[in-house]
Amino acid sequence: MKRLSLKWRLVILHTIVMTLVMVFVLTLLFSISSKEISANVKSELQDRVSESFDYISIKNGAIVFDKDFLEIKDGIYLSAYDGDDLDLLYGKIPYGFHYDLGFLKDDIREIKVTDVNYYVLDSDVILADGQKLTIRGIVSIDAAQREYALTLRIALILLPLLFFLTIVSGYILSKRALDPVEKIIKKTDDIRREKDLSKRIGLENTSEEISRLANTFDSLLADVEKGFEREKRFSSDVAHELRTPITVIKMACDDLLKRDGLDQDMKEDLETIKRKNDQMAKMIEKLLLLARAEQGRYKLHKQDFDLSKLATIIGEESKVLGKEQGIEVVTLITPFVRMYGDEDLLERLLSNVLENALKYTRSGGKITLKIDHDKDIKIEVADTGIGMEKSQLEKIFDRFYQVDSSRNDSGSGLGLSFVKWITDVHDGKIDVQSEKDKGTTFTFTFKDRTVKK
Ligand code: ADP
Repeated sequence: MKRLSLKWRLVILHTIVMTLVMVFVLTLLFSISSKEISANVKSELQDRVSESFDYISIKNGAIVFDKDFLEIKDGIYLSAYDGDDLDLLYGKIPYGFHYDLGFLKDDIREIKVTDVNYYVLDSDVILADGQKLTIRGIVSIDAAQREYALTLRIALILLPLLFFLTIVSGYILSKRALDPVEKIIKKTDDIRREKDLSKRIGLENTSEEISRLANTFDSLLADVEKGFEREKRFSSDVAHELRTPITVIKMACDDLLKRDGLDQDMKEDLETIKRKNDQMAKMIEKLLLLARAEQGRYKLHKQDFDLSKLATIIGEESKVLGKEQGIEVVTLITPFVRMYGDEDLLERLLSNVLENALKYTRSGGKITLKIDHDKDIKIEVADTGIGMEKSQLEKIFDRFYQVDSSRNDSGSGLGLSFVKWITDVHDGKIDVQSEKDKGTTFTFTFKDRTVKK
């Protein structure tokens, strides 16, 4: 299963934490407000009943009620009763409420009448003439609760919206936080793909930790680049320095071989020294060329040229060499395939790969050189030679790598590194298929960059 990205993990974590906080805060808020509402209604009822005492006065021996007594303020109904009787003197009671509910003085009761809950408060008031009246205040709790229920409903509707906003904000936040990391990944990947160690990540305007990470990467790249440069310079310097002694050895061997009176053994030994010296000279030449190429000191001469013609010439040469070794070389070359590139380098590529095929194919084997052109240009060299193990295939393009140096004593392990470099500078791709004791097929694919007339 694919692992969730850090960005999405942060979004999920953020959403869970925020949702828990929201649910906790809302639950707390509602449990408090539910109690608060009851307390509020009760205190309003108490205030209203006390306030109502001022609405009653005695005028000319008769009880007079102010018209405010009838007003239903904050949903509170007021009614006045004569002493302890249940005789209503003045006021209003909610529709359907008990007319004959007994008194319970100065204590708020909760009464339920046909599914409606009320708070009821009865309080006595002594008028100026000494007369006693009982004032009853009635308020529906449900009306207040309804308001509360509405708030609850709005909150419940808002909850998914808040949830959605949390996800969006979490996504934006984690994306902003991780964007520089994405940039670092992309840049390092570019550097790896393009194999260009001179490039740097160079992140600015980011958080302290991320820019430190990018800077550390950059210093690491600088060190690696320096190391590579040193190594390349070393190879080219060594190759350069070895040229003179090799030439001297070659000249000395030639001189000695010309001398009279050399016995057969000495002659053979000198011939061996000369042969090995020539081999070393070739190797050094290749190394120097490769070092120059990798240092970018090799000047490419790219132009439109006839690849089919070049392949035919090299194919013919291979046929001659093959015949000497008892190997059949077959060419399947589509005529007039043109390519835009460095003809000299392509010649080296073809000869190197064909040379290898001849080197690693036994007598009686077969080598096929194919040049094809559909969307891309394809060069294929297939042999029925000794082949290679799968594990060796990825190493054969490394400098000095030889599958088994005892398989040939003329090899240097540099040929395919050069072939790889040539393919790279032509933006091409190499595919190698090989099976031990069955054979090997090298396929090169190049984009067609020729100018169509
Ligand atoms: P070398 O000079 O040793 O041929 P190369 O760089 O040309 O060096 O090749 C590297 C190694 O890849 C060789 O040592 C050889 O073992 C292996 N190789 C290359 N071409 C073939 C082939 N056609 N068949 C089998 N092995 C091959």
